Amino acid sequence: MKKLLMLALLAAVACVVPRGPARAWEYQGHELVGAIADALLANTASGQQMKQVLGAYTLNKAAMWADCVRAVHRDGNRFEYRRRDAECAPFETADERARMEDYARRNWDNCDGGQGGCHTTYHYADVARFQDHYSERFVGTFRTDIVQTLGYAIQVLQTGQPVRQPVNIKDAKEALLIIAHLMGDMHQPLHVGALYLRRDGVEMNPDQPAGQNHVVIERDNATRGGNSIAVPGGPLHHVWDALPEAWGVRATPEFVAAARAMPLTRAQIDMQPRLWASETIRQSKVALEGLTIQPYNEHDKKWPASFRDPDGYRRMREAMQREQVVKAGRRLAELLDDIWRR
Ligand SMILES: [Zn+2]
Repeated sequence: MKKLLMLALLAAVACVVPRGPARAWEYQGHELVGAIADALLANTASGQQMKQVLGAYTLNKAAMWADCVRAVHRDGNRFEYRRRDAECAPFETADERARMEDYARRNWDNCDGGQGGCHTTYHYADVARFQDHYSERFVGTFRTDIVQTLGYAIQVLQTGQPVRQPVNIKDAKEALLIIAHLMGDMHQPLHVGALYLRRDGVEMNPDQPAGQNHVVIERDNATRGGNSIAVPGGPLHHVWDALPEAWGVRATPEFVAAARAMPLTRAQIDMQPRLWASETIRQSKVALEGLTIQPYNEHDKKWPASFRDPDGYRRMREAMQREQVVKAGRRLAELLDDIWRR
């Protein structure tokens, strides 16, 4: 009985191993996604609605909020925001600080096996790139993963009613702040698709054969969005987070034109997050090609890896990043239009 209990506990904890400092697209990417959506919604009824919900913010600022919340620390029963990044300055009024602290408090230990900072698990899933779609049956999905959380946030924005479980979102403004951010993360290939590795560096499939021990896989084989893969330039996750600086954070006419040219999702709203996640998993197949991976290094706790063709990889990465950022901006605007037109 005790052993069973322990196993259950381990399984629960394994679902929410925090990822450390990963912040998809960093601030630049999120700001750019929001800026593209702002441009698409300018002078539309949905743009007006967006202003009513967000008050002082536009989507380019709102898109950074969920990462700024990471700067809320817990000290006993006290939750305190401590500034970490200059980009978070727009959220440092007394009211907005209180909102961040209150959100962190409500979303601190509400996830499976949650030991603090549950809201940091809302930004990703880790579906093996062997899969061609998202399903709750797969290893690397969980009750508070990015697909589930985005679904709850959409529900709150649609109904105006709070949800309390398994994520806690109190009102439409909070929901839209979360949506604006997660739409960016949803389109970062390594935030949804994942590589699982054996200790010798050979890829393994956590879902096949069925019935493998999830706890062991999470401990021994998960690469945590590529944070556990060390390539020249840092963890692979960070290589994908960083956009070329020259792209800036403004929705240039080129970005806006590219966004308008993107096909719309045109699906029922509650199906959209899983469709986008499925597409990102397929993108991750390509994003995770072209690596030579060494056996696990116990000292660094990472798999060292190199690019077989560094220039070719960089070109592929930048092309995919551009496509994904543009797509995220377009879909953020489309989603809000879908929600408010009905
Ligand atoms: Zn994020």
